[in-house]
Amino acid sequence: MRCALLLLALVLPLAAQGEPVKVLTSFSILADMVQQIGGEDIELTNVVGPDSDAHTYETTPADGRHVQQADLIVENGLQFEPWLDRLIASSETHARQVKASEGVLPRTLKEGGQTVPDPHAWNSLANARIYAANILHGLQHVDPVHAAAYQRNHDAYVANIDALLALAQHTFESLPPGNKRIVTSHDAFGYLGQAYGIQFIAPQGISTEREPSAADVANLVRQIREQHIKAVFLENIADPRLLQQVASESGARMGGTLYSDALAASGPASTYLGFSRSNIETLGRALAH
Ligand SMILES: [Zn+2]
Repeated sequence: MRCALLLLALVLPLAAQGEPVKVLTSFSILADMVQQIGGEDIELTNVVGPDSDAHTYETTPADGRHVQQADLIVENGLQFEPWLDRLIASSETHARQVKASEGVLPRTLKEGGQTVPDPHAWNSLANARIYAANILHGLQHVDPVHAAAYQRNHDAYVANIDALLALAQHTFESLPPGNKRIVTSHDAFGYLGQAYGIQFIAPQGISTEREPSAADVANLVRQIREQHIKAVFLENIADPRLLQQVASESGARMGGTLYSDALAASGPASTYLGFSRSNIETLGRALAH
């Protein structure tokens, strides 16, 4: 009898057993996207939470257990989460793995003499459509019973992304051409900049792991003065002190806080759609004049 039950458990798809599929996401932006598309049919666990920096995350034993138990693991890819790749490689997980950025045209940057991919593809709303499609297909694969519900949730979500794309286009196209060069802590907005002709300059480079030297900061202050850069923006995941110093030495004004690599813990920017809207509005307000 016990044997027959075990066999049944192996043969039946998960949803037919009444268990929600277990999905593990690497960081808050993916957690929200997966929750929006998965709705009530999934059980979600996320690793790096709101307002936290995934570049420098150190894994815990609990993360290893979650990897082991997951049916589906969704990560960003583009070398954003090497800590999760190591965890998966050292586990015996049977989870299906989805890289949400699969199919994005990656930007690359030169850093420390090497060409590295820019992982921050979520900061382009056009890429968010690709993320949503990859998440949808991953969920439908591990839980075909709820495929139609996932499709409906996905379609409604993409309609909201499209509405924000229209807002971004309208906001950024009407900026004065001379106002399209700004400073942030680290290089998280390359995809957004590429889409709308905005140049983002950052003392920290592509990852928050690197601390800029005093010479880097002095160079940045000189660049702001020479190029008449108007505004410096803080990031929700970064220590504000460096950029406050840069702003006060260069005379540039503080443009506000941008959400770069994580959602806010509460308030409007606690969803990806709200996060994107907040960034569009903050940039638009600071650069309009
Ligand atoms: Zn980053």
